[in-house]
Amino acid sequence: MFTKSQALFEKANQVIPGGVNSPVRAFRSVGGTPVFMQHAKGAYMYDVDGNRYVDYINSWGPMILGHAYEPVVKAIQEYATYSTSFGAPTELEVTVAELIISMVPNIEMVRMVNSGTEACMSALRLARGYTGRNKVIKFEGNYHGHADSFLVSAGSGVATLGIQSVPGVTAAVAEDTLSVPYNNLPAVEQLVAENPDQIAAIIVEPVAGNMGCILPQAGFLEGLRDICDKNGIVFIMDEVMTGFRLAKGGAQELFNIKADLVTFGKIIGGGMPVGAFAGKREIMEHIAPAGKVYQAGTLSGNPIAMIAGYTLLKTLNEHPNIYTQLEEKTSALVAGLRSALGAAGVVHQVNHIGSMMSVHFAEYPIVDFTSASGANNELFRRFFHAMLEKGVYLPPSAFESWFISHALGQEDIDFTVEAAKASMQAIKA
Ligand SMILES: *Cc1c(COP(=O)(O)O)cnc(C)c1O
Repeated sequence: MFTKSQALFEKANQVIPGGVNSPVRAFRSVGGTPVFMQHAKGAYMYDVDGNRYVDYINSWGPMILGHAYEPVVKAIQEYATYSTSFGAPTELEVTVAELIISMVPNIEMVRMVNSGTEACMSALRLARGYTGRNKVIKFEGNYHGHADSFLVSAGSGVATLGIQSVPGVTAAVAEDTLSVPYNNLPAVEQLVAENPDQIAAIIVEPVAGNMGCILPQAGFLEGLRDICDKNGIVFIMDEVMTGFRLAKGGAQELFNIKADLVTFGKIIGGGMPVGAFAGKREIMEHIAPAGKVYQAGTLSGNPIAMIAGYTLLKTLNEHPNIYTQLEEKTSALVAGLRSALGAAGVVHQVNHIGSMMSVHFAEYPIVDFTSASGANNELFRRFFHAMLEKGVYLPPSAFESWFISHALGQEDIDFTVEAAKASMQAIKA
């Protein structure tokens, strides 16, 4: 079933470290050979062996309207003929910035970059430059890309591979990153008290999506906002995953919380490599060339990336009912999976919000990295492979969120639930 993928993976391992260009793709935590994709359309991905999968990663978010969404493909084709890059400003960049500012609350200026990593790295530098302070507070199991400052107790691939401290990140850099459990306000208060006038920023995933999908408990985000206000700390909401996904204005809109800086990635590029950071004019004008905090990019604001993102964002902006429908699809899938897993007598927790969800095999609620790590991740491994063989592509790690796309139909949901039933029967047999 996976012959060609297996052959390709062997070749890939000779020329690409671990055979992949981003660690989670390698299936290390679930074992086995990663599946090499050939093309995708709507809710389905097709691998090099001709197998079809109902896709629940959707490129880790960007494919919110499904793969090869026609208006995006057409726009890319048209703009490619105008040149794939100028290295000079374009009208399109202004149009994109205006659209983003109109969709997202509490931002007046936006700077485009090329990935979520760059967005978070630059937002932190800006917070440091703006406050004149060095330290940052982050949460265990939250992932803000692979910049040095964030590779302390990080989620996503760092958690998947069980890496405790990352070789190559100097102790001096790591010392400025303070880490506390998600959903634990008293721990944040204590850190702030212990480090008076030293914390530049608190950065948080407003819904954690890099240790499974974990929701903020009531009062958590409000409490962080409050701590930042009282202590002159810049509140950074990392909306790389949640931006344009939980609502058109992201988690800020959904939870009605104001961030000082917001970071974006994933959906913002419509599947092209794009990130952005944004905020109030007063802070953003510290960025070069308006201010002295240096940040730059040869391909930033790239026209092909901009038109792909713009086309996708414009659709989301003009059809807010997409979010209601996404939520309905997700709820239907969650209900179906709960009943399938329940019928099989498997203890489970299904966390979900909007079009993000995750399944954990545990009898207690999953609220932070410790609880996510304590779930039966060996069962997840078997579940993952059983589902893969039945044509359902789940995230290859229990420490990742599932993403539902608008291309997913009721028949796909039914197919997935049936696959879950059959998978559990096969596992128990
Ligand atoms: C994916 C992700 C990043 C990193 O984005 P890249 O484009 O992979 O560099 C940062 N923060 C969050 C919350 C993410 O989910």
